[in-house]
Amino acid sequence: MEKKKYERPVLKKLDTGMPNKFGMRSEYTPKTHIDGIAVSDLAKEYGSPLFVISESTLRNTFQQAKRAFTTRYPKVQFAWSYKTNYMNAVCCAFHQEGSWAEVVSGFEYDKAIANGVSGKKIIFNGPDKTEEDLKKAINNDSLIHIDHLDELYTIIDMATSMNKRPRVAIRVNMDTGVYPMWDRFGFNYENGQAWDALNKIMRSEKLELVGLHCHIGTFMLSPGAYAVAATKLTDLAISLQTKFNHDIKYIDLGGGFTSKNTLKGSYLPGSDTNPTFDDYAEAITSVLINSNLRQDKLPTLILETGRALIDDAGFLVGSVIANKRLSTGKRATILDFGVNIMFTAFWYDHKVSPAQEFTHYAEDTVLYGPLCMNIDVVRENISLPLLNKGDHLVVHQMGAYNMTQWMQFITLRPKIVMIDMDERVHIIRDNETLESITGPERTPDYLKKFEL
Ligand SMILES: *Cc1c(COP(=O)(O)O)cnc(C)c1O
Repeated sequence: MEKKKYERPVLKKLDTGMPNKFGMRSEYTPKTHIDGIAVSDLAKEYGSPLFVISESTLRNTFQQAKRAFTTRYPKVQFAWSYKTNYMNAVCCAFHQEGSWAEVVSGFEYDKAIANGVSGKKIIFNGPDKTEEDLKKAINNDSLIHIDHLDELYTIIDMATSMNKRPRVAIRVNMDTGVYPMWDRFGFNYENGQAWDALNKIMRSEKLELVGLHCHIGTFMLSPGAYAVAATKLTDLAISLQTKFNHDIKYIDLGGGFTSKNTLKGSYLPGSDTNPTFDDYAEAITSVLINSNLRQDKLPTLILETGRALIDDAGFLVGSVIANKRLSTGKRATILDFGVNIMFTAFWYDHKVSPAQEFTHYAEDTVLYGPLCMNIDVVRENISLPLLNKGDHLVVHQMGAYNMTQWMQFITLRPKIVMIDMDERVHIIRDNETLESITGPERTPDYLKKFEL
């Protein structure tokens, strides 16, 4: 009898991703059209990859947010957070809806002015405002949100030398029960820095203290944290009424509401679990209304909501470059877009849909971008039907931060189009060319000649 051949046992890791009680997540509906336009036509006409913004989703989302707050509180003002998406077309759509501008740099400030926003309706946040920026903001009577004492003293000096009375607020940071705390911006509430800064402003008599501001974090899953923030800002406002008989004009609760995206490691999809505008609005407005603020002097509630207003309106259309099997046997699909234009892939498990009909056999797949870089992973694990070379996909909830945090690395950035309310497509930003990248470069003459 022949000796049986020995085969070495192997341990194989079962890579099933993160199932929940409903089993594995899978995206089984093809997304063939965006606002009535075929995805394949978009890719053919404008190239792949391609960012697509749905104007109707943008406006509907804004209206929902506005309704949630204005039905609960008499004075509400939104200010569009430029850094979330500062494509001019996007900013202008929000300005048409009545949003002011919220900017965090001189560049964004100039962009808002160039878009035609009146200086009085620009909120200037952030730790880095140069004296030149501040001068512009003071001359335009913008709302300057002071971040630190050095800035406070600079503004007091400038107010004196320019003989103006700048309109200011302070940014307050605080413990809202969500950690890590964002205590690097503004003045702390608990240790008394915020109250100290307010006293310095009131004593100086050079500045007009118009508001109190906070921005407690981003993608905040807890409406309760906003209730805490609103309570603490309201306490400061009441203290100002009591001590100085001074009424502030607004309380600004910043941004940070979630979109419908799903954070990595979440048990259930964000579209099922994330708070709604009504949840946030109820938490915030009930604090303001129930407070001891003088009812005839209720401050305006300002919201600098960014992500939650634009994320759902943005899509990324792309194509399959190739399929391959990894050494483990796992299916890998290589796409023509990667983390260079999908910065948020680091935080979210984005919903990805095939853009055409498919068979119902799905397999766990890793989606890679086209970059020669190991971290270029669009989804580590997603159950998808087989996609062939040239097939299209649509990534959902891409409107926030991807079009501002994208990077020019290895390849050029694609076009952005907006589909308007009448289903017409407009290019709102052209794709980059070699010239857009090399244009600002300067090569010293002596380096230009070489023989190989
Ligand atoms: C980024 C930012 C916002 C917008 O935040 P979202 O999380 O996008 O809503 C609002 N205010 C300030 C001060 C910011 O820095």
